[in-house]
Amino acid sequence: MGALILKLSNKLHLKITLKSLIVAVIVLAFMLSIASSLYSSYQGNIKLLKEQSLETNRVYAEKLAQMVSIYLDDALKVLEFSAAEVEDHLDDEELIMNVVNRVQEQEETFNSVVIANSEGLMIAGAPEEFGLKGNFIKSTEGLQLIKNQKPSITMPYKTSTDRVVITLSYPLFSKDGSYEGLINGTVYLNESNFFETILGDHYYQNGSYVYVVDSDGIVIYHQNEELIGDDISDNEVVKKIMEGKSGAQQVTNSFGVDMLAGYSFVDLSKWGVVAQTPKAVAIDSVGKIVMNSFIIQLPLIILSIIIAIFAANRIVRPLEKLAAITVVSVEESEMRKLKETNAWYYEALQIKTALIHSFAFLHSQVNLFMDKSTTDPLTGAMNRRTLDEILQQWTSKEIKFSVIMLDLDRFKRINDTYGHAMGDEVLKFFVKMMKEGTREVDICCRYGGEEFVLLLPETSIEEAFEIAESLRKTLEKTESPCGRPVTLSAGVASFPDTASRTSDLLDLADQALYDAKNSGRNRVSIASSKS
Ligand code: GH3
Ligand code: MG
Ligand code: MG
Repeated sequence: MGALILKLSNKLHLKITLKSLIVAVIVLAFMLSIASSLYSSYQGNIKLLKEQSLETNRVYAEKLAQMVSIYLDDALKVLEFSAAEVEDHLDDEELIMNVVNRVQEQEETFNSVVIANSEGLMIAGAPEEFGLKGNFIKSTEGLQLIKNQKPSITMPYKTSTDRVVITLSYPLFSKDGSYEGLINGTVYLNESNFFETILGDHYYQNGSYVYVVDSDGIVIYHQNEELIGDDISDNEVVKKIMEGKSGAQQVTNSFGVDMLAGYSFVDLSKWGVVAQTPKAVAIDSVGKIVMNSFIIQLPLIILSIIIAIFAANRIVRPLEKLAAITVVSVEESEMRKLKETNAWYYEALQIKTALIHSFAFLHSQVNLFMDKSTTDPLTGAMNRRTLDEILQQWTSKEIKFSVIMLDLDRFKRINDTYGHAMGDEVLKFFVKMMKEGTREVDICCRYGGEEFVLLLPETSIEEAFEIAESLRKTLEKTESPCGRPVTLSAGVASFPDTASRTSDLLDLADQALYDAKNSGRNRVSIASSKS
């Protein structure tokens, strides 16, 4: 994974920094958590909307079923009341005609009403224009009603006139208890009927609809009239109704559309009322709901990302600083920056401490090597190689300076008299004295065995002479480690007055020194400039 990111970033010429990684991780984490929260909110809302829709349809179906039940109950009561009126008066033609007309007209329940005798001969029928009177009941269902001799509601059946109908029937008995016939109220399912009165008003616009099935799963009412009479007993909801159950569930309708259906069983007629809404319509608003919740969250999300980026910055800053320092160099000033870095958490502090240790070690090692390569180990004065470098630098920068070349007088004797070790001590003592007698910027160099060179920047030949003289006088008066004073001879020259090339300059200073020796030692000579 890491290698892959590295490869990719190399390709894109991107620099992977800890900060960009942390910010990327934070943004990624945010995006994932937002996506998961939106997804769960989406799912949750879908579930909620589905449940709401199912519950609404269940309650609705139950209400409609109650209404159908009450309507049927009322209709049977009307037939019962009318039956009581005509019993023992079937021969009163006027009475029975009045009764069927009244029931048909006033109740709006039935498309037609008939009174038939025990043989099934219709002796009165309304509306009169249907010409029902004088015909025999022929349908199986009709004949079954005569046989039953009790209040009934038929299943849908086809009449001789090819109508699909349902009949509510009440038997007629004379006072002595003999069966006289029956009064039937018939509902024409394919025409305007009482279902429309109850259910038609409750049709809503969004694709929801209501239908009624009988106990065999035959559609007896539907807004789409073409479906009336269809057998839909394989519908999951209809199966439940046929088992006498009420409830709500998702179901696929005969057009393959997912519907959220509430259903209720009508005990009186064994029918079922189904109210259903297309699932897509019910959950239509979920996108809007989720979007709204996202918009509400948005300022908080942005604020959180800003805070996270700020925190990432705080975490990364010490490491960035440490990394920058290690890149730049191992100079002393970087060490100071390193120490000032605010490593406020464990890992950064560990790195900082480790860097300080290794820097300190490195510095001491470097310094050691530098000293070793630039100084004379016995006296600590600069060595000749360093002298050459400094001369090179100064002359190229055109720094004016003077040079004093010094040599201890009769040094061989010191060695011979007090031993070589004492000679060394005298050399160290002499270097110490020279350093004390010159400035910080002056360079003290061991040129040969007991021969030294002083480089004095921005110093005239006269000033250099004075310094040499003062050194000579001090040395002559001071007791050296061997117990008595030693003396020196010196030659002074200056750049660029005496000579403009360093080799000439040193030669002329050496010449002056030679002159001082020849003139009796313990003296300082000024070099004559190169003509
Ligand atoms: P002058 O310069 O006055 O002419 O006499 P000198 O005796 O000082 O001259 P010379 O150059 O002949 O002798 C220098 C002596 O310095 C020779 C050598 O033994 C001694 N010498 C050189 N280097 C060292 C050193 O590192 N330690 C010691 N103890 N002696 C050294
Ligand atoms: Mg000497
Ligand atoms: Mg010498």
